Amino acid sequence: MVITTVSIRTHFVALLVIGLVQACAAAPKGAARSEPTRLKLTFSAEADSFRGAVHEYDSLWTQDGVRITRALETAAHLRFAEIGDTVIRAIVFEGGSSSGYRESPMRMRASYPLATKRATLMHELGHRLQSDLFRASENDHPFLFLWLYAAWVDAYGEDFAREQVAVEKRRRGRMDYAAAWDEALGLSPEARAARWDSVRSSRIHR
Ligand SMILES: [Zn+2]
Repeated sequence: MVITTVSIRTHFVALLVIGLVQACAAAPKGAARSEPTRLKLTFSAEADSFRGAVHEYDSLWTQDGVRITRALETAAHLRFAEIGDTVIRAIVFEGGSSSGYRESPMRMRASYPLATKRATLMHELGHRLQSDLFRASENDHPFLFLWLYAAWVDAYGEDFAREQVAVEKRRRGRMDYAAAWDEALGLSPEARAARWDSVRSSRIHR
């Protein structure tokens, strides 16, 4: 087949036009999402027996880190980059997970099934993302639960979110997870988002 310069040019222009049309169509009107913060999250094992779990967390983060960060930042209307919390260490061990704060590392339970590793990683990162709005002595779970459900749905879908709420409601500890989840989910998604908006905006300049 003989392709003339003219036909190559025409073809190129046609492709360019198609490309532009697709690019425009892909950007949602007025709701373009900014790029999520590039979080650097590194996992280390408290003991050799947790190396398998570290590998699982590593792969999870490599695969889903961008989607998780985007879902958290979108639901919370906060950004890790703005609070300067972008390099995070997580120790994998066998015990209750916790978020840590700044230089203090997160601690993640080794034995969760994969879905709960995903959900709990988002839960603990969520604490860090909103941490500057609350005093250390405050229980911030009722506030986290105003937006974490939407982030779970965004990242992994509604079924996942429902299952992980059930998992958290079975947890026993100093804090009544079941009551806090029931209270948050007693509100409509719109009411939860509005309540979080008002909490966030009233506390953000503290
Ligand atoms: Zn928590």
